[in-house]
Amino acid sequence: MRFDVITLFPEMLRVLTDCGITRRAHEGGLWQLATWNPREFTSDAHRTVDDRPFGGGPGMVMLAEPLAQAVEAAQAAQRAAGVQRPRVLAFAASGLPLTDAKVRRWAGEGGGAVLVCGRYEGIDQRFLDEYVDEEVSIGDFVLSGGEVAALALIDAVVRHLPGALKEPSAADESFADGLLDAPQYTRPEVWRGRSVPEVLLSGHHAQIAAWRRRQALVRTAQRRPELLQTARASGRIGPAEESWLDAAAASGEVKK
Ligand code: SAM
Repeated sequence: MRFDVITLFPEMLRVLTDCGITRRAHEGGLWQLATWNPREFTSDAHRTVDDRPFGGGPGMVMLAEPLAQAVEAAQAAQRAAGVQRPRVLAFAASGLPLTDAKVRRWAGEGGGAVLVCGRYEGIDQRFLDEYVDEEVSIGDFVLSGGEVAALALIDAVVRHLPGALKEPSAADESFADGLLDAPQYTRPEVWRGRSVPEVLLSGHHAQIAAWRRRQALVRTAQRRPELLQTARASGRIGPAEESWLDAAAASGEVKK
């Protein structure tokens, strides 16, 4: 899979190719990264990429033209690499939420994506209307720029590319089955007086699986009840699991 990132700060993307799972997957040829700086697509002496907003207001807005030329250069590079129609995504706090379902879909489809990182107060809407397939938000907060969002998206997609993970843990992780992950423990068995739950030391696989499932259900009910409702609506919670949740509510572990 190929990512072309349009950014005023290309050096911020380096962590992906320098560290961890994404570095290994990059070295293994599972994905490629190129960056394009809109300043390289300006024609004035100051290499201007922003201007004041029409209608007034604080801050600056990114100019459409340098971004358009950068995206066209990125699309041409994608085509040269064999990707005919890369998806063009722009990061925006006002965009549609990035979800596990989208990440898995994009990883499954492969191909390529052009990611546009905003800065300042954002991007001229006419560029977004002309070039962008979807505006993407990584959460209900405002970042200084889209680069951190690009890191999050690429990291999340790359770990789903076949061969990126040494063990196929992505299938058990949070959101994979609509629930949050169960708590994890490692050595020592007792740390500062806190013991690992006994069942995890039992070697009894069925009991461990049941314990993890109950923990995932209870944790999801406690922290993200809306996810539990969606899992219920899609028939992913059985009667025995409902009775665990009823018992957790009766004991006060989960609020009704
Ligand atoms: N004026 C914008 C607003 O209120 O929505 C905020 C602009 S922000 C300072 C600059 C850039 O950071 C945005 O153009 C976008 O690319 C990126 N950004 C900020 N928050 C983001 C978020 N939650 N998700 C994705 N990108 C974000």
